[in-house]
Amino acid sequence: MIIGAGGVGRVVAYKCAGHPEVFSEFMLASRTVQRCREIAADIKEDLGYDNIITAAVDAEDIPALTNLLKEYKPVVVIHVALPYQDLTIMEACLAAGVHYLDTANYEPKEEAKFEYSHQWAYHQRFQAAGLTAILGCGFDPGVTSIFTARAAKHIFDEIHYLDIVDANAGDHGKAFATNFNPEINIREITQNGKYYENGDWVEIPPFSIRKELTYPEVGPKASYVLYHEELESLVKHFPTIKRARFWMTFGDEYLTHLRVIQNIGMAGIEPVMHKGVEIIPLEFLKTVLPDPGSLGENYVGQTSIGCRISGLKNGKPETYYIWNNCQHTHAFKETRAQGVSYTTGVPAMTGAMMLLQGEWSGAGVFNVEQFDPDPFLKVLGKHGLEWHEEVGADLEL
Ligand code: NDP
Repeated sequence: MIIGAGGVGRVVAYKCAGHPEVFSEFMLASRTVQRCREIAADIKEDLGYDNIITAAVDAEDIPALTNLLKEYKPVVVIHVALPYQDLTIMEACLAAGVHYLDTANYEPKEEAKFEYSHQWAYHQRFQAAGLTAILGCGFDPGVTSIFTARAAKHIFDEIHYLDIVDANAGDHGKAFATNFNPEINIREITQNGKYYENGDWVEIPPFSIRKELTYPEVGPKASYVLYHEELESLVKHFPTIKRARFWMTFGDEYLTHLRVIQNIGMAGIEPVMHKGVEIIPLEFLKTVLPDPGSLGENYVGQTSIGCRISGLKNGKPETYYIWNNCQHTHAFKETRAQGVSYTTGVPAMTGAMMLLQGEWSGAGVFNVEQFDPDPFLKVLGKHGLEWHEEVGADLEL
């Protein structure tokens, strides 16, 4: 069962429908059932796949979701609604005996702070129930974590320095729009930046570390250090890491809009009164910004996301770069969604496939880098996200 009929949910549904040998039928459930029906109709038209049941559900309503799960009896829930629903969906999965997979870690609505502690706390309950929960199976977190696991398994004896580099060199033709849910996106990037160094977290003001990095097929782009959730699990699971950072590209125009949005209070998450009604500025902003799902049609250019890693092999220093580039037009042609939804949805489907085929198993709560990266990376290219690697690469960092 897929929960969440947004941009990512659309891609997951398309990709599951494209593999009927594994996903012979599935349910697409979301808050607004009409969006599920639109996706199911598009898939029927494009792929001829007609085994999608749609349903309305509020994933924050544990009894309602539990009932739906008990009625439909899916093997696994692929949760691609919002991070606010992680814990309620995990509770319902436990109550109904269903495996769980998501792409973003839990974040309380009232505080823009995400960390894995909330979800890791479920480990023993999933273990006791004999169920698997797979956390962070999108692109970043997700493929970047699996790339790191590949580096640890095949390239290095010890990873020392990890830089995850995320470029979106796309142009959607809008003055300002976010590539995934605007509320979640703006909360993420307006926080203080943070990176890991020698056992400590170093906090920095937003956008205060900038460097021009050169991305394959894209060229040089201004890149900024920001905090991203996979850093927390990667430094835990690969304890030889001395420093781990996450870099993302932003254009000047985007940053100017963001500054204005913040300066005029539209990024606020505290309720304010407007004409006698309580509203949250950032939620209102989401209403007036372009729907990320609508950006695909005119989106040109590509994303380039990867890991730049250095460390030791046989006692000698080694460097390694592993990455994927994804064209927005390719994503749209295949799924009627833009590249950021595509790069998130393909790994989510692939992770669910790993679970259904028994390649990834175990009772408890796991981050994706804890599983074997090989079977996942073997099929990722065939699923639409070809990856490349270079040993001895110039990392620029
Ligand atoms: P969208 O906002 O496009 O879609 C979210 C969907 O979830 C909407 O259809 C929405 O319903 C539905 N939803 C919201 N609340 C509920 C609820 N209480 N119950 C049921 N359904 C609900 O977001 P995206 O598709 O862009 O992103 C989906 C997820 O993917 C997010 O968690 C995001 O953080 C994550 N992500 C992860 C990435 C990665 O690389 N790991 C990258 C990009 C995104 P409605 O239609 O009614 O609004």
